[in-house]
Amino acid sequence: MIVAVETRPLTSARIPLFGTLERQPADALLGLIGLCRRDPRPDKIDLGVGVYRNDAGETPVLRAIKDAEHRLADTQATKAYLGAEGDARFVELLAPIVFGAAQAAEPCLTGVQTPGGTGALRLGAELVARGSRQPTVWIGTPTWPNHAPIFREAGLEVRAHPFFDAVTGTVDFSAMVGALEQATAGDVVLLHGCCHNPTGAELTQAQWADLIALLTKRQLTPFIDLAYQGLGRGLDSDAAATRALLAAMPEAIVAYSCDKNFGLYRDRVGALWVKAADGAAIAAVRDNLLVLARSLWSMPPDHGAAAVREILEDAALTGLWKTELEDMRARIAGLRAALAHAEPRLSALGDQGGMFAMLPLTHEAVLELRTDHGIYMADSGRINIAGLRSETVAPFVAAIAPHLQR
Ligand code: PMP
Repeated sequence: MIVAVETRPLTSARIPLFGTLERQPADALLGLIGLCRRDPRPDKIDLGVGVYRNDAGETPVLRAIKDAEHRLADTQATKAYLGAEGDARFVELLAPIVFGAAQAAEPCLTGVQTPGGTGALRLGAELVARGSRQPTVWIGTPTWPNHAPIFREAGLEVRAHPFFDAVTGTVDFSAMVGALEQATAGDVVLLHGCCHNPTGAELTQAQWADLIALLTKRQLTPFIDLAYQGLGRGLDSDAAATRALLAAMPEAIVAYSCDKNFGLYRDRVGALWVKAADGAAIAAVRDNLLVLARSLWSMPPDHGAAAVREILEDAALTGLWKTELEDMRARIAGLRAALAHAEPRLSALGDQGGMFAMLPLTHEAVLELRTDHGIYMADSGRINIAGLRSETVAPFVAAIAPHLQR
């Protein structure tokens, strides 16, 4: 509808549109990249930003992706628009990897391509905000720093619950359960499907079962963030909690990223799946996802998802990708074992999963390690384990040992 606008004479000074905006802090982790880059020391160790690195310290494009990109260059006939759901075939081929074949075929599950895991989280948050319940979103602390802003920007209330026991380096499950007992029916609980960022701490199988019982009893909906499938214990093991949650809960949301396990970071490849209670609800969910996506980004960027589709459509390329992913996973697991072996106070790292661990270091120690040793990690003491190389494990452990708090 177009509304007629009454024109009024200009009587006062113009009020600037952006006059009340406040300056915002720069992203600390991105700032760390610059600091590390400017450090001339040849033996500096970059454990900051969360990208996988090989033993040479590089983040190369996977060979499976390069092959898929060559195929795309040769065969892609058009770059005409896709729809708001992105590449439907990419979503269809990815679903069985995430959920297993049977669950992927569930009629009450619907999925769309998104710009990375971040886009999936935001789209899911917008969908939750569109529902009638206006739930609180419960988020464990610490967590990926972008989680709370994503939900808040979608207009949702966010509440923190304890998650990590820094002394033992494991999940503080009783504190987590105690907090979630306070949640109101209809609330949403954000869960890391595997490879917790930033702590690496994971629930045991028994704890997942207890958590599912709690979610069921209190009528809470899981919102699973699965950003590192295959980088923890393996593709199926890393998806086990997600699958168990989906099997048990009538409604669930899964935000997925291909940016780590396919090494596609800047190409922004992800997907969002929603499970709804029945056929009518899932049809409405899909309609709303498409309308929301249309206004958020119209349609997701194609290239990375098309490359993943090429891989998953071809058995040989899928095999190559799985081998490369397993190499990455094994390297991270090897570094975890080496750290745990080198220093008894790091033994928890050997039992955790994924690229990240949170070291028991004070803020002062983190800064001192940066200045005195050229060791770059997030202010919180989070390290990207994949930033280590076989030969830097020993000097790294020697440098941090005097500062460890546990
Ligand atoms: N969730 C978690 C826990 C993450 O660590 C990240 C990336 N750092 C994301 C989601 C988002 O991933 P993407 O780059 O695909 O947006």
